[in-house]
Amino acid sequence: MQTAEIRGRWLDFFADRGHTVVPSASLVSDDPTLLFTVAGMVPFVPYLTGLVPAPYPRATSVQKCIRTNDIEEVGKTPRHGTFFQMNGNFSFGDYFKEQAIGYAWELLTTSEADGGYGFQEKDLWVTVYQDDDEAFRYWRALGLPEDRIQRLGMDSNYWSTGQPGPAGPCSEIFFDRGPAYGADGGPATDDDRYVEIWNLVFMQYLRGEGTGKNDFVILGDLPKKNIDTGMGLERVAFLKQGVENMYEIDQVRPVLDLAAALSGRRYGAVHDDDVRMRIVADHVRSSLMLMSDGVTPSNEGRGYILRRLMRRTVRAMRLLGVDVATFPELFPAARDAMMSAYPEVHGDYARISQGAYAEEETFLRTLASGSTVLDVAVAKTIKAKKTELPGDTAFLLHDTYGFPIEITLEMAEEAGLSVNRSAFDALMAKQRSMAKADAKAKKTHLADLSVYSAFRASGETVFTGYEE
Ligand code: ATP
Ligand code: MG
Ligand code: MG
Ligand code: MG
Repeated sequence: MQTAEIRGRWLDFFADRGHTVVPSASLVSDDPTLLFTVAGMVPFVPYLTGLVPAPYPRATSVQKCIRTNDIEEVGKTPRHGTFFQMNGNFSFGDYFKEQAIGYAWELLTTSEADGGYGFQEKDLWVTVYQDDDEAFRYWRALGLPEDRIQRLGMDSNYWSTGQPGPAGPCSEIFFDRGPAYGADGGPATDDDRYVEIWNLVFMQYLRGEGTGKNDFVILGDLPKKNIDTGMGLERVAFLKQGVENMYEIDQVRPVLDLAAALSGRRYGAVHDDDVRMRIVADHVRSSLMLMSDGVTPSNEGRGYILRRLMRRTVRAMRLLGVDVATFPELFPAARDAMMSAYPEVHGDYARISQGAYAEEETFLRTLASGSTVLDVAVAKTIKAKKTELPGDTAFLLHDTYGFPIEITLEMAEEAGLSVNRSAFDALMAKQRSMAKADAKAKKTHLADLSVYSAFRASGETVFTGYEE
């Protein structure tokens, strides 16, 4: 089942059940406290908190998301992308727990011929919050055996924003990939074998002040209970497409294959190379989608994340043995794989490609000039009969030449040297605390984009910047 088909079935299913279909919001969220849209619920937060009355009682969307906190997982786990799409269904004081659980089960287990995803019931497991007997009962009523429902604590199965406001238990749905992927202890024990596909959040309580994420008082029931769910489109796609991970699905695989072809290495031959090819496939797609939403590479905030994704791509290609520009080939492949779902990546491609290719050229030049500095330092260290590069050299390379520390480590290692990592870390920590103090002085360096909401509400606007 192609990704577009999974997306279409989702929207049809919930539209047929009275949900208003809401288009994806930008990756750049209106919320000034968030770098990016990290979940399907982000655009609905004002309705979920009750700040703004919801214009519809129920809604559904397929939301573009960026999660930078998953960057280190990319390519190593089968299920973490920096960019991914979250399918969501939302109820604003309308239906609640029993119906949300019922919808999820119905869509997952209805046969493909009847419009569902056709998962086998025996392959599905769920978790519920330890005290949520209600949720447990609803799952049992649908026929799920007791031994495939696990009760977990606040850490994994309780939601709140971290602030006073709505809160409540979650229930997560997992697909069991079978004994070849791990021991059979259920999702509580192994997240490689049991892949989380869908999270249901039941916002039913009002939480008060508290000292930590899991330590707060519950003030009582919310007057209007809400539902927020998120299903990973790429996760369902990889399970339905019978491939090993989300980087091998129809929307991502072409870039992976191209990275392999450009490097002359075969995907599936060497584990570390496979990880690099998956990183390239993920990061190129994320960069394309970020640029399509107006982010440009820079040294702070959102632009820095984009820059980091691009540099990690260049680095991964370099470790695959390619040290020439590859964006002019990789980006068009990502565009072609994404443009049926997001036609704007095609329409805006001239602008996107200009920025992306220039960024790669700049970084390749950076690598070239930094390499000279590194070579000199290496020669000096060897001449002094030492085996360790000083931390301040690594810091200089990082700070002035934009060398990620991993590159310095690898290039030093190629010369048979280690790096004084603790000295480097100390310099980094010092710089970070200075930057923090600076940011505090400026309060925040994220722009408040909520001002644009007013324009959006007033309909079409005309761009006059070329003439005026
Ligand atoms: P995991 O525990 O696997 O990291 P999560 O609990 O962090 O997932 P949620 O915050 O519950 O994920 O997001 C809802 C759904 O979005 C998940 O059930 C999953 O299907 C999908 N999802 C979350 N993070 C990613 C990601 N980095 N890449 C792809 N899909 C994701
Ligand atoms: Mg996660
Ligand atoms: Mg999880
Ligand atoms: Mg989850």
